[in-house]
This record gives sequence, structure tokens and C-alpha cells, in this order.
Amino acid sequence: MATEKREFKAEIAEMLDLVVNSLYSKKEIFLRELVSNASDAIDRAKYLALTDKTIAPENPEWKIEIVSDREAKTLTVSDNGIGMDAADLENNLGTIASSGTKAFKKALAEKGEGALPELIGQFGVGFYAAFMVAKEVEVVTKKRGGAAAFRWRSDMGGSYTVEDAERDGFGTSVKLFLRDDQLSFLDRWTVSDLVTRYSDFIAFPILFRDAQPPKDEKDDDRKRREEQEKKPLNTMVAIWKRQKKDVKDSEYEEFYRHLTHDWAGPFETIPFSGEGQVEFKALLFIPKKATMDLFMPQQKRGLSLYVRNVFIGDDMEMLLPPYMRFVKGVVDSADLPLNVSREMLQDDAIVSKIKSAVVSKILSVLEDMKKKPERYSEFWAAFGTILKEGVHTDWQNADRIKKLLRYPSSRNRKGVFLEDYVKDMAPGQKDIYYVVAEREEDAAAAPQIEAARKHGCDVLFFCDHVDEFLTESLREFDGHSFVDVAKGDVQFGTEDERKEEKAANDKAAGELKNFIEAVKKELSAKVEDVRVSTRLVDSPCCLVAKEHALSPSMVRMMKAMNENVPEDKRILELNASHPLVKKTSALEGEALSDAITLLYDSALIAEGSPVEDPQRFTRLLAGLMMK
Ligand code: ADP
Ligand code: MG
Repeated sequence: MATEKREFKAEIAEMLDLVVNSLYSKKEIFLRELVSNASDAIDRAKYLALTDKTIAPENPEWKIEIVSDREAKTLTVSDNGIGMDAADLENNLGTIASSGTKAFKKALAEKGEGALPELIGQFGVGFYAAFMVAKEVEVVTKKRGGAAAFRWRSDMGGSYTVEDAERDGFGTSVKLFLRDDQLSFLDRWTVSDLVTRYSDFIAFPILFRDAQPPKDEKDDDRKRREEQEKKPLNTMVAIWKRQKKDVKDSEYEEFYRHLTHDWAGPFETIPFSGEGQVEFKALLFIPKKATMDLFMPQQKRGLSLYVRNVFIGDDMEMLLPPYMRFVKGVVDSADLPLNVSREMLQDDAIVSKIKSAVVSKILSVLEDMKKKPERYSEFWAAFGTILKEGVHTDWQNADRIKKLLRYPSSRNRKGVFLEDYVKDMAPGQKDIYYVVAEREEDAAAAPQIEAARKHGCDVLFFCDHVDEFLTESLREFDGHSFVDVAKGDVQFGTEDERKEEKAANDKAAGELKNFIEAVKKELSAKVEDVRVSTRLVDSPCCLVAKEHALSPSMVRMMKAMNENVPEDKRILELNASHPLVKKTSALEGEALSDAITLLYDSALIAEGSPVEDPQRFTRLLAGLMMK
């Protein structure tokens, strides 16, 4: 094919501009990115070769070579991996497949230049980091299984060229024409140092060679140089196979970054091995923060799987239940066959054993972390919502997961564990009380929790959107049922206190009989019943649902999703000892009916629901204020 000149997709041109013109001082990360691409390319070739004999018939020694040419001022990173054809070049190096530059640009503007290496990894634009140090980049590549080689070239001026080329053997060479102020990257020691720092765990040898050996080299020097050239810069020991005590934290962190492109580093590093039924080594990580993709159902996720050091694939979701999808890492097992496919793994007995070992390990790490409340808080804030799903989906571990749940409560806004809740129950308290609200402030102000508070009962705040769905699966903890304080008949306190309260209520109900009838009549279209409350202390009234009704926040959510919500009328409860109720009960005629409407509206407002007729409400309120 003739040399073809093509424009970069607009977004790439824009992004290149940003990368090239950045003053970022850690330009060295370009090497990490190129080596990581080379390693990916070999991984892919090795994997395909397992099932396709034509991919690597020559059975090569897989390796990554870095060649420094002082005369030409070029640094070349070569691999004998999968290679690319013309279409691959266009798709992989001419467009940004996933995230796009707008998002990249926005993130860069927000985070500043210091975040560049983080963003480069995160946005899958690692290759272009080369332009931080090079004025021109040339890629010569030949795809395994194909016959033709191609040259891709760009001086980042907004376009690139693709043409036919020659290449000895399959794979890819990326040649950087270094800028004059970046020539230190030609130095063996600089490169060696960078490889140790960023790429030591790469599973293939990374070799370094000078294109022009010194001219008047002595025999001894030549021998020494040639020996050096055969010696990889990296140790190549898969990091998950090394003893924990021999690995530096910084090495784990670098591997984590390589794996996840998350520059923030891991929150928790979990090396462990499985013995017994299935033998495997694993290196797992809990990140610091949740990323958006954790909440996108289509997103791929899971652990990377190696079988006897051969990379089988990443995003192996069969190794991790969805409620642990925040965990990243690698599993390596010798007990699986090499030529496995995803489909086969899906219901493989060994895989499911590895999965339960992984789950159990993570749960035990979290159980340990619980002992350090501050640290657990950080974890819980980032991933609690996701972990909660496990109560619903992993019945085998539900009891362990329940012990990891942490809810803010009326007593402790920072959060309580269920074990502590149960330990601190008030005398006579049998159930675990909760209130559902959209925000903690609403929960804390909910009239429905007043009496619980008065009787010394703590009330959990269910303010996470998943909490209400979970109440069904939660069912009980340690023999105590979960009870919504805003539903059905709840009574607090000891047996005696309840009896006393009941008698007082019956008496009050008798005294307020006429008023209750009037309220019922006035609000007959809106509420199912009106009764004297056992849950109010400071508020005049509140609305409660029948035992199995949907909560108001659930109803609001379903309405927002345009779902048909059955109109479930609620019960208005009055606080018989509240002065406002007493006063209102003495009114007559229009004044009575207005006051009843206002009482009802105030109950709606107190729980965060909109009033049904705001015009009427403001008119009545204004009228009241005028008096
Ligand atoms: P990422 O590695 O996150 O996908 P990069 O910008 O680093 O993003 O690389 C873009 C794509 O270019 C890669 O996904 C891969 O398809 C292709 N590529 C880059 N380097 C190589 C290589 N050495 N061999 C084969 N393909 C490569
Ligand atoms: Mg890359």
C-alpha cells in the first residue's frame, strides 16, 4: 500500500496537545506505558497460541527489548507479541476506544498536571505518553497470523501515516525520536532504574542494548557488555508468587497501578495462597475509592487469572461475586487446564472453590479491619453500599456480611455495627428498630423515632438506597427482628411500661373521641385511620404505614421511575399529650377543618414528603400567622 496520511480523530489531536505541552516532570512514565503494552501484547499472543497453532509456530523466547541509539537519538521498545495489522493500527493508535478526550481534558483541568500519569493510565491513552519525550514516534509492526508489516508514524502534528514496511519476525517496535532535552533516556542506567521502579514484575525479560557499542572496545569490555545484554533488567518473578516479607510496599503499589491504572494506590493489599483442595496464589487489592463503573451493570469486572504463569484473561467475573466487585487482583492456579475458555470456567468446580476461598479471605480481612474503626469507616464509605448486596445474594455468608454492616443511628451518627446495637439494647427491647429516610437529617428529625428515643432505644437510619430493599433479606440478627418504627403498631419499653402506656392511650382516645371522628371525616380521602400514637413525644402528629406497606421514600422513588404505585393510604397518629392537639380539638367549624389540614400537612413535611395542595397550605399558614 502507498503511504497513507490520516488525521487523528479530533479528540486524539486535542489530547496529544495536552500531553505534549504539559510541563509535567515525571515524563519517565512513558516507559512504563510502552513496556506494559509490550507485555500485554505478549500475553495475548501466548494466550491465543494455546488454541491456535499458527500464532507462534516458531515457539519464540518471549521478550521485550529496549534499544538505545545514541547517534540517531532514538529509543526503541520492541516485543515479539501479537503485533498489529493496518486496521489495528488505525483502531488502536488513531482513535481513543473508550473514554474519550473530553473526559480526559476535564479531569486534567480539575486535578491539575500532577495527575497526568494517573489519567494517562485511566483513560487508556498510555501509548501517547511517548510524545512527552519524543518529537516523533514510529511503530513498525507485524501481526501474528498475518503476512504484511506496517509502519505507523506521527510527529503529533494532528496526523499520522501508515505504510507498508519490513520487519524481521512478528511483534511490534515502537521507536521514539527523543527530544533534545530528553536524551538521558538513552542511558542504560536510567532505563534500568525505571524498569526496576515501574516494571519489575513484568513476566517477560526486559533486555537493554546499545545500538552502537563503543568503537574501540576492549575484549573484556565487550564480553562484559554482551553478558549484560543477556541479563534482564527485571526480576520477572510474578509478584504474587513472592513471599510477602520479601516484597516492598512500593512494589505492591506499582503492581496495583499496572493492574488497575488507579494512580491513587491500593487501600488494602491482600497477598494470600490457597492450600488443600485447590492450590493457588492470589494477590488482591481493595482500592481507596469507588469508581463510577462499579455502578454500571454492563461494565466488565473481576480478577485476572493466570494458569501456571500464563495469562488467561482479566475481568474474570466468575472468580468474584458481584457484591465484591470492588476488589481487584490476580489469581494464579496450577490446578486449571491451560487451554480453558471463559465459558468452561463459568461452571468449573475448581474455579468455584477458588471463588469461595477468595470471598472468605476478603471477609476475614474486613473482619480484622473492623477492629480499627477509623480505617473501617473509610472502607465503608467507599464500598459499603456494594458489600450490602451480599446479604441478599450470598446466603451462605449472609451472617458474616451482616456483622460487617454499619448504620448511622439516632444515638451514633458515625455508625453502629449490629452486634453493638444488640449489646446496647434498652431493657425490654426485643427488636432492632430502623427508620427509612432519604437523608440522615430527615431520619434524625423523623417524629416516628421520638418515642423510641424516649425509651432509650437506638434507631438505625436506613438512608442508603439499597437499605430498604435489604430489609427483607436482613430479616433478623442474633434472633432479633428488624422493625420499621414508621410502620404498623410499635410499642417501646418494658412490658409494664407498655401496659401503662396502653391504658393511658385508651383513656386519651376516649377523651379525644369526638376530635378523632372529626379528623377522620375531614381526611377520609387521605388517610385510612386516625388514632392516638405510642411513638410521639415532641411532635403533634405523624403518618405511619401499615405493617407491609411501602415506605414513603420507596413510593417517591417508584413514582420517579414512572412505576405504578398502589395508593396505600396511611394512618395518622396523634400525640394526645401535645398542646397543639389539645388546642385544635377545642376548635369548631371552619377553624377546625383548617387546623386539621395544617396538622396533616405538617406531618407530610416532617417526613420529607411534599404537601398535596401547597397553595392551600400557604394560604392557611398565612391566615394563621395573621392571627
Ligand atoms: P491501553 O494499553 O490502555 O489499551 P494504550 O494507549 O497504551 O492504551 O494502547 C492502545 C492500544 O494500542 C492497545 O490497547 C493495543 O491494542 C495497541 N498497542 C499498543 N502497543 C502495542 C504493542 N506493543 N503491541 C500490540 N498492540 C499494541
Ligand atoms: Mg497501555
